[in-house]
Amino acid sequence: MIVAETINEVRMQVGKWKRQGLTVGLVPTMGALHEGHASLVAAAARACDCVVASVFVNPTQFASGEDLECYPRDFERDCRILEENGCSLVFHPDVEEMYPEGFATYVDVESDITKQLCGKSRGTHFKGVCTVVSKLFHIVMPHRAYFGEKDAQQLAVIRKMVRDQAFYTEIIGCPTVREEDGLAMSSRNAYLSEEERKAAGVLYQAIAAAQKFISERCSSDGDASDCRREIAAAEVISVMRQTIEAESLAKIEYIEVVDGTALTPVDRVSSGDLVALAVHIGKTRLIDNFTV
Ligand code: AMP
Repeated sequence: MIVAETINEVRMQVGKWKRQGLTVGLVPTMGALHEGHASLVAAAARACDCVVASVFVNPTQFASGEDLECYPRDFERDCRILEENGCSLVFHPDVEEMYPEGFATYVDVESDITKQLCGKSRGTHFKGVCTVVSKLFHIVMPHRAYFGEKDAQQLAVIRKMVRDQAFYTEIIGCPTVREEDGLAMSSRNAYLSEEERKAAGVLYQAIAAAQKFISERCSSDGDASDCRREIAAAEVISVMRQTIEAESLAKIEYIEVVDGTALTPVDRVSSGDLVALAVHIGKTRLIDNFTV
């Protein structure tokens, strides 16, 4: 696996591959890799001849007071995981390489899609994400780029950015990889104490309770095709809220049912809607979701 720290090195190598007619997949990450990241790299390696992964803790997607300084970093371990999963090149730039002095050009999706859900508490987060992803797309020019459904809003925002700006790259969403108790894998799970880690299982318990509620309502309804339309979003939210409120270490930031593309809130549930939640376990903010 090639380790590249500069934009030029990446461009030269990807240029060589493309001149040989090879396809290139990109997996953007912030490092502290786990099986969720590994699954994206493996998916890229199955579908593309060459896989580029980036490991870059992107400062512009953190607000002041968030965890930029203490975000977990272990580049050597990351390299082992990347190589094992078929990565061909890891791009590991420093902050000056991505944001040289005087950097002033940002990419912002100015629609409700960035203002809903996590956008309410993290006002500039998606501007930082789109700016860095757009720059990575220009550097690598990948045929395909892989993102996790765990960050469903990020995936929806990037799909919109790519559509609006006619980016060359096809966006591939990959399923959430979970721990045994259902907790979505996340680099931020490392912040949890033993007691908090147990409590964090409540996010998935709420998702499982909501899925059970929806399927039971559907089977008692008979009509499988649009039985979900009979279910109010508020009922689903209430089932999830009750589950999470039973855990004293958990504090709900939001639980919402939104349209799967525009991410606008819906009153009644239908197939393709996104049920998303953000919950604080102690000082750690965790997110999760499922698609109806
Ligand atoms: P991050 O390093 O947290 O910025 O994540 C890099 C990529 O990995 C993003 O596309 C995430 O959505 C994806 N990802 C993070 N956690 C998971 C997971 N548990 N399952 C699948 N993909 C994930």
